[in-house]
Amino acid sequence: MVNAGNANITGKRVKIKAKGRIFEGIAMPSTTDSFVLKLNNGYNVGFFEYELLEVKDVKKMEETQELLKNPELPTVKIISTGGTIASKVDYNTGAVTSQFTAEEIVGDVPEVAEVCNIDATLLYNILSENMKVQHWKKLAREVYSALKDYEGVIITHGTDTMAYTASALAFMISTPKPVVLVGAQRSSDRPSSDAAMNLTCSAVTAISDLGEVVVVMHATTSDDYCYVHRGVKVRKCHTSRRDAFRSINFTPLGKIDYSTRQIEWFVKDRFKRGERELELRDKMEENCILIKFFPGLKPDILDYYYDRGYRGFVIEGTGLGHVSTDWIDTLRRICEDCVVVMTSQCLWGRVCDRVYDTGRYLLKAGVIEGEDMLPEVALVKLMWLLGNYDIEDAKKLVKENLVGEITKSTRYWEFEFE
Ligand code: GLU
Repeated sequence: MVNAGNANITGKRVKIKAKGRIFEGIAMPSTTDSFVLKLNNGYNVGFFEYELLEVKDVKKMEETQELLKNPELPTVKIISTGGTIASKVDYNTGAVTSQFTAEEIVGDVPEVAEVCNIDATLLYNILSENMKVQHWKKLAREVYSALKDYEGVIITHGTDTMAYTASALAFMISTPKPVVLVGAQRSSDRPSSDAAMNLTCSAVTAISDLGEVVVVMHATTSDDYCYVHRGVKVRKCHTSRRDAFRSINFTPLGKIDYSTRQIEWFVKDRFKRGERELELRDKMEENCILIKFFPGLKPDILDYYYDRGYRGFVIEGTGLGHVSTDWIDTLRRICEDCVVVMTSQCLWGRVCDRVYDTGRYLLKAGVIEGEDMLPEVALVKLMWLLGNYDIEDAKKLVKENLVGEITKSTRYWEFEFE
């Protein structure tokens, strides 16, 4: 029973009198006999006794006005793909759903209009776990054409797989301008939402002197500043914290102060605006697989995929980049016509298969060290390489730094960078 306490007025704006006070808010679905009201401050309160004073329909978000442009500001394109940043509580079901267009997001975060003008496109309205390679390709084409006309591009995206999309775009598009992925851990109608700050900071980044694909998200649990993470060096590391994103084996490129809207860059060696020619290479080989090794995993998992036509394998090995020595014969066989890249489930640090015997056997079998790449970045890179090059070239290129995914040396202190 979802509507027990609110039956006919769920989803409406109401004014009630209860406990001698007046309360206003939105009537929520209720699973008990109580009447549940979402107050304007975002909190839900239940009442068993109340007097209904007023009931109004909630203004539909589609009714938001057309955005006016400030001729003194640059214009940025927002491409909306869904996720929490584009979601609100559905007052009919009580669930968080993705339902708003990009214009509506800007309507919710007026500070963005102080930074830049916005044109918006709703490309998808999906949760990011539903992204597929075909979504990356269509998005890449959309970003590519927006980059011709706009100062920069912002992509609103679910946080769960945002880093995969960032990597895919980083390989598929050579960009002379900022391409900024942004999301939120809490929807914009919650008091603790991170949507407004993240979106404002993403706008600041989109008009900056940067020329690469980045992720902009809360740096701390407070509303003080965001980090700009290189798209091929970032991972979501917490299920719910607002500062869930971390640059791995790298420092964030910079930080944006929410109140002053100034960027402080930490990394000099970043791609700058205008440095690269705009180019799109959106072919991807989907038959690539990421396998996490664990003690006892049998090598026939490799044959399973090999027999189904997979020719790109990324292994998340242990420590410096190891799997059981039981795997060596199978690896030697598949390495003849496959690209097999070793990464580490440690995430931090660099794969080095020259220290222990196991590693040396792996290298002899033809396995390629994935340097300090994140396993998922190595996977996306391999999809892109095998989509665009033959196996032998892919083998050479996978260990070369193409877009900042491999750093020459992993500095010890980066592990401690908060
Ligand atoms: N799992 C959903 C997604 O990644 C919602 C979480 C979020 O947006 O942060 O799209």
